[in-house]
Parts: sequence; C-alpha cells; structure tokens
Amino acid sequence: MLEELKQRVCDQNKSLLSHNLVLLTWGNASAIDRESGLVVIKPSGISYESMRPDDMVVVDLNGEVAEGNLRPSSDVMTHIELYKAFADIGGIVHTHSTFATAWAQAGRGIPIYGTTHADVFRENVPCTRALKKKEVENGYEVNTGKVIAEAFRKKNPLEIPAVLVKNHGVFAWGATPEEAISSAVTLEQIAKTAYLTETLLKGGEPVPDYLIKKHFTRKHGNDTTYGQD
Ligand SMILES: [Zn+2]
Repeated sequence: MLEELKQRVCDQNKSLLSHNLVLLTWGNASAIDRESGLVVIKPSGISYESMRPDDMVVVDLNGEVAEGNLRPSSDVMTHIELYKAFADIGGIVHTHSTFATAWAQAGRGIPIYGTTHADVFRENVPCTRALKKKEVENGYEVNTGKVIAEAFRKKNPLEIPAVLVKNHGVFAWGATPEEAISSAVTLEQIAKTAYLTETLLKGGEPVPDYLIKKHFTRKHGNDTTYGQD
C-alpha cells in the first residue's frame, strides 16, 4: 500500500538528520495521499539510520493504523489535524531544530529581516498561543494542531509554510513531503540569521514591503522567474 509514498517519507525522515534538524529520534515527517485520505508517517522511537520504507506506518484520518507493524509517531494526531485544516498541503515535518525552537520557547514569531525569509515566507513566521491546561491534559496532540490552525485563520499556509508552537518547536509543511523538508531547512536558517540580526542591531529592522514583494513573487504566483520551469 502506497509503496512510493513510503519510500519518499522514509527518505524525508532520514534527511532531517542530514540537514541537522533533529537529534536522537526527535522529529518526524509525514505525507498524505489525498485520493485515499491516508497518511504515511514515521514510526515512533525508531532511529533514522536504521529506518526502512516498510517501517513507515499508514494511518487514516482518525489515526487508526491501516497498515504497518509499528506504532506511528506520537505526534500523528497533530499531523492529521493539519492535513484536515490545510487542504492544499501534502507533507509535514516536525522538529525541535535549535534556533527555531529558541524563538518558540521565547514565544516570539520570527520577524522578516531579509530576502532569504521573503523568498519562502510572505510575512513573519507566526508563533502560536500557549496551550491551556485542559488542552494539554485532554487531547494534547489534536489541540496542538488546533492552535496552529487558529494562528492561520487569516493566513495562507502555502505562503507561510511553517509555524512555531509556543514552548515546543516547529511544524513545517509544503505541497509535497520534499517541500516540507525544504520549508523546515529554510525556517531554521532564517531563525538563526534573525537571531544574529537582533544581536547586531537591537530590535532589528524589517525588510521594506517592496523588497518582500519582489522576492516572494519571484518564486510564487503567476510571474515567477526563479528556476527552470
Ligand atoms: Zn515535538
């Protein structure tokens, strides 16, 4: 079942390690097959080095295992909540990558300080509100997905393909599992450079709107000039 997608999700999980986005077994990647409504996700607690495509777990949108011998990632219900909330995304990555997590722990979104940010994200990367006690004690993983969706009520998730979850870490996504990895890599880099920017220039200085627009529209929308397509 979904053999090609399992291979891609396995590759994406391994690439979290090669991009230095995870330590130990933290972090996970998934993808959805929109036709069948099935999600392929990393198994819980398995090392990235030894992981094989057959270890990937297939779940339905209720979180029930449709195929696989291992338990799915403990974050599976957050992934499912995001696939339900964001109809156009095809892949999700969760990490505790260092600089992005530092912003999340500070409860701050990442201001748009440069064109690297504007190439991928149309505006600041948002940080969710903290989960309430009852949201943590009852349905924590589902509620994590819900506070992310709440932060995106007036935003297009494909124009801002990542979020910081307060006190926790990163969820990043894209139209494909490969794009989700790319969003997570970019997010960590802009988290790092934004941090350094603020150490050099207290308070930072946002990029002017006209420069954001120039960079974002080179890669998105109808007038793209980036790449070979
Ligand atoms: Zn986590």
